[in-house]
Amino acid sequence: MSEVGKLYIVPTPIGNLADITQRALTILADVDLIAAEDTRHSLKLLQHYDIQTRLISLHDHNESQRAGELISRLQQGANIALISDAGTPLISDPGYSLVTQCRAAQVDVIPLPGACAVTTALCAAGLPTDRFRFEGFLPVKMQAKHHVLSNLLIETATTVFYESPRRVAQTVQDIIAVLGGDRELVLAKELTKTFETFYSGSADECYTWLMADPNHQRGEFVLLVAGNKKTQSDVPPEAINLLVLLMKDLPLKKAAAITAEHYSLKKNVLYQLGLELND
Ligand code: SAM
Repeated sequence: MSEVGKLYIVPTPIGNLADITQRALTILADVDLIAAEDTRHSLKLLQHYDIQTRLISLHDHNESQRAGELISRLQQGANIALISDAGTPLISDPGYSLVTQCRAAQVDVIPLPGACAVTTALCAAGLPTDRFRFEGFLPVKMQAKHHVLSNLLIETATTVFYESPRRVAQTVQDIIAVLGGDRELVLAKELTKTFETFYSGSADECYTWLMADPNHQRGEFVLLVAGNKKTQSDVPPEAINLLVLLMKDLPLKKAAAITAEHYSLKKNVLYQLGLELND
């Protein structure tokens, strides 16, 4: 039997077709098979670069079963590339199950660096990049969405979300409701494309901008939320979540006292934090 093959994780452009590395093109041309999220979509990219490698579909709905078939092929010596519709596979895209199964089966997984909307947005948004938190897409259901957003009340790092054009205005409204209208945001839109736009401002200003022209809500978005600059707290996130929850129904003094007792913390620290959060 031939040697075990390798699985290559290959990023593809997020808009501008030229944003693909020489190594990615060589690998896509040389592998035996390309697993793609949407084979018809990826065919256009391959035709553009005159790559004739056969495509097979691997998407959210067939990944766990398809992974088994691909691992058998890899074990028989085939080299396979994984691509998604755009950007880096596995980053809010399929591939996690295939990669974990490959690792468990001792198949080498070789990642290629390349286009990714998170890092493309972050490096030009003008927000701190020394630490950042990536949250992918927010939940669609209101309660779950507000819960995720409330975790950012005391987050000091920049947080990055992917958002659909249909939901972006509502999401900014939700941010205003949970984090306040003065939290600084950046809307990074249509990255690497003709109408690439960065709009920065307070959440209130971003909402006004989105509503000012229907074109402002069209296209693909990365939404960046600046960290909370006011709160430099050593209080653990679970305690802050409890404090925030209790503050909705109880006076701050009482909410701080219950949280302090539950987490063995100082009442006055929580009271102060509650004041900052209210602010
Ligand atoms: N794996 C991809 C990556 O590496 O960026 C992301 C895939 S995710 C399904 C698609 C989301 O990424 C879009 O809804 C949008 O939020 C963001 N995105 C992708 N391309 C973008 C672009 N050119 N400009 C802004 N956001 C983009």
